[in-house]
Amino acid sequence: MDILYRSTRGAETGVPASRAVLNGLASDGGLYVPEQFPVLENSLEELSGMSYQELAYAVMKLFLSDYTEEELRFCINSAYDEKFDVPEIAPIRKADGAYFLELFHGKTIAFKDMALSILPYLMTTAAKKNQIKNEICILTATSGDTGKAAMAGFADVPGTQIIVFYPKDGVSPVQERQMVTQKGENTHVVAIRGNFDDAQTGVKKMFGNKALAADLDAAGIQFSSANSINIGRLVPQVVYYVYAYASLVRAGEIAVGDKINITVPTGNFGNILAAYYAKIIGLPVAKLICASNENKVLFDFFNTGIYDRNRPFILTSSPSMDILVSSNLERLIFRITGDDAGETAALMEALSKGGKYEITPDMRAQLSDFAGAFASEEEVFAAIARIYQQDSYVLDPHTGVAAAVYGAYRAKTGDETPTVIASTASPYKFARNVLHAIDAERFDPLTDMEQFDALHEVSGVAIPQAIEEIRTAPVRHNTVADVDQMENTVRSILKG
Ligand SMILES: *Cc1c(COP(=O)(O)O)cnc(C)c1O
Repeated sequence: MDILYRSTRGAETGVPASRAVLNGLASDGGLYVPEQFPVLENSLEELSGMSYQELAYAVMKLFLSDYTEEELRFCINSAYDEKFDVPEIAPIRKADGAYFLELFHGKTIAFKDMALSILPYLMTTAAKKNQIKNEICILTATSGDTGKAAMAGFADVPGTQIIVFYPKDGVSPVQERQMVTQKGENTHVVAIRGNFDDAQTGVKKMFGNKALAADLDAAGIQFSSANSINIGRLVPQVVYYVYAYASLVRAGEIAVGDKINITVPTGNFGNILAAYYAKIIGLPVAKLICASNENKVLFDFFNTGIYDRNRPFILTSSPSMDILVSSNLERLIFRITGDDAGETAALMEALSKGGKYEITPDMRAQLSDFAGAFASEEEVFAAIARIYQQDSYVLDPHTGVAAAVYGAYRAKTGDETPTVIASTASPYKFARNVLHAIDAERFDPLTDMEQFDALHEVSGVAIPQAIEEIRTAPVRHNTVADVDQMENTVRSILKG
């Protein structure tokens, strides 16, 4: 079956997958969604006998149907290799009566590696398929994590360049060190004298700058974006939910056909949307439990039908979930309107104008697959401490949000369905908060570097390569620029 894509806001239809990957966002500002959903072709038994790479092919070919088998297998095999520190790529660990699906075994020890390791290959393959001869230059503004994960994915991928802008005084020392030590001849890092919004606005301006685009085109270069609304990031995320199910069957934890729940610590709504898509294509999933931190916009949405971003922005120990506008929710909205682009566009317009919209009772009725819940900072720290004491298993704070939410959900509902929890970051990435939760008095006084050793002692988990690297790797990037110099900086990097 040929799967084509359309914009959630109506301007585009019949777009092949490779085009949607190249474009990222549709021309009307909408998101690309499948015009119709495929269904799993392999049986669950068959899937449970497959390696990660084989299963990735079985799932991704359904959505990316204009890629040839050879192209897709090349992308998958280039992405999911020894870059990951375990052969299973996404192993499962049983603790606290749940199954933790560890999505942090890639280069930057967080789940964005799962999609950002393959996106560069999907993109360069798409460029070839569409007779685009230009080199692809990824431009990104980052508040810390995404920029590093994108660089790690694009580093030394032929036919690509990547330029990352970060606010000079707006990222943590560890995050800054991770970025400025990034290897790869095609990676470029620029610190901006300004905040994240300045960097983001500067990047958006460059995407819309026609004169710059024309000059770069003459030099054989064009811009693209690696952000989380690209279907090239969404589709690879569907894979690991199917893989989790297959792994549980293989391990004898569930029988073929049994339903599972999936709990996802949520920010931009990309990861949980992928779990929903897995359900739509035929994975036996009962509830999707959407776990929020104190920025509980989504909890309120699922419980009232009102999405309202007009509220204070709270800084928490799970910064990748500190988000008030969850971009990928638009894809769910589109589906529950019955694929009505006009209605979706009107709601998104209300969101951008007044920061708020309300869905109809009919739409709400279709949200029964989801349960929304949130955890306070105290509850997150308590869950990390409890699971460590009980199972000697250490969670990062994002996964801690999911574990706290799931524990409360289970106690409240009595729902004993086997549950997979998406474990989105290594505790090493957030060592300070994790150790604070476990024993503040003992660990708070330690330096960042001492904390890595302490975490090793506490968890028994080897210090990941990503952490070793920031201790020893030489600094390779030292460009600093004023906000009004961003365009000139890009010009000199790309022509130099
Ligand atoms: C990005 C991120 C999340 C949130 O995922 P979304 O797809 O944005 O909902 C959760 N945890 C970690 C560690 C992340 O990096």
